[in-house]
Amino acid sequence: MNYFLTEEQQMIKDLSKTIADEKIAPVAIQYDEEGKFPNDIIKILADSDLCGVYIEEQYGGLGGGIFEMALVIEELSRACGGIALSYAGTGLGTFPIILFGNDEQKNKYLPQVASGKKLAAFGLTEANAGSDAAGVQTTAELDGDEYILNGTKQWITNGGEADIYTIIACTNKTKGSRGFSAFIVDKGTLGFSFGKKENKMGIRASCTVELVFENCRIPKENLLAREGMGFIVAMKTLDRTRPGVAAQALGIAQGAFEVAVKYSGERVQFRQKISSFQAIQHILADMAIQIEASRALVYQTCKFIDSGAKNISKDSAMCKVLASDTAMKVTTDAVQVLGGYGYMKEYPVEKMMRDAKITQIYEGTNQIQRNVIALELIKEQSTK
Ligand SMILES: Cc1cc2nc3c(=O)[nH]c(=O)nc-3n(C[C@H](O)[C@H](O)[C@H](O)COP(=O)(O)OP(=O)(O)OC[C@H]3O[C@@H](n4cnc5c(N)ncnc54)[C@H](O)[C@@H]3O)c2cc1C
Repeated sequence: MNYFLTEEQQMIKDLSKTIADEKIAPVAIQYDEEGKFPNDIIKILADSDLCGVYIEEQYGGLGGGIFEMALVIEELSRACGGIALSYAGTGLGTFPIILFGNDEQKNKYLPQVASGKKLAAFGLTEANAGSDAAGVQTTAELDGDEYILNGTKQWITNGGEADIYTIIACTNKTKGSRGFSAFIVDKGTLGFSFGKKENKMGIRASCTVELVFENCRIPKENLLAREGMGFIVAMKTLDRTRPGVAAQALGIAQGAFEVAVKYSGERVQFRQKISSFQAIQHILADMAIQIEASRALVYQTCKFIDSGAKNISKDSAMCKVLASDTAMKVTTDAVQVLGGYGYMKEYPVEKMMRDAKITQIYEGTNQIQRNVIALELIKEQSTK
């Protein structure tokens, strides 16, 4: 399908594909097994000017938007969803600053991300605040010119590796989620440390780490937007980064599909290639249909968001659900096409199947996304 990418978008996609094929694919299985963080790949992405594709030119970026970010994530994820997540997780940690940062905050932090010198992370989730994000217990108390943070964030992507953390904490307990505020916290701040590193099913090249705040003092200038805006900062950020999860899912599905097609043309049983069996052909055809439908929705959603549209929650949720459900189905079917070999670690599809699963869970589970979609549908109906 021709999506009529601009010359620059095509260049971004091609460059990301080359890096994925030449630098990521050869090491993906090893990084998965060792749970190794891909600092060397990040350096390559930085040297290739891909870290700032979604950051304005005045801050050293390429001036693109969600779509350009999604193109990079999709191509990197074809080779490894885990390695791609270090890039996507930085986008998640940076968008609060892009959307709500003041000039000073943008001038300080965005060039560091655009150059690839620093990674970012986003801390919302806690032990008792998952889908119910309003359950955040981490507190931020104003004391003179500083906020004092106390609490623990759980399962934070890029935790420990990132230098810039955007954190949602409670500044007024009596107000529920309206008492949340968003802050930028630098790695190395006294009272900010890293706890447990998770041992995960998939995306094992990505690190998922606890953030611990113990009387951590940050300058009050690190508040994003205003006190009480934290929940809005989080929700508006996630509306814009869920297409990135969708792009990750899309790339994983595309990678698994390519392996399955190639393998079906090589594997011989009953003295013929297994691609000559209609049962296999139909699996491949369904994969292609689902992937292309997902790609069309993901790309169009990104363009819709980049156009400056205001009501994006439903569309953002829809592309995340479609692409992640597709990734789970396609990778599972890819294992089936490869039969027993698909189940073995020598072939990449079992990893792709493990990597795909997270895309149905994080940045809001697909059940929560369906809640969002249904609520928006009902709202639209009632205003007709
Ligand atoms: C690898 C990994 C990386 C992550 N990275 C980050 C990160 O960088 N930053 C961050 O802040 N968070 C991160 N998270 C957290 C992630 O966003 C949450 O795990 C996710 O939002 C779901 O929360 P939960 O795991 O607590 O599930 P729960 O909320 O406990 O949900 C359990 C089950 O109940 C269902 N459920 C819950 N409520 C409802 C409802 N109202 N209606 C229908 N079904 C419901 C869910 O869909 C799910 O199936 C990460 C998680 C993982 C696993």
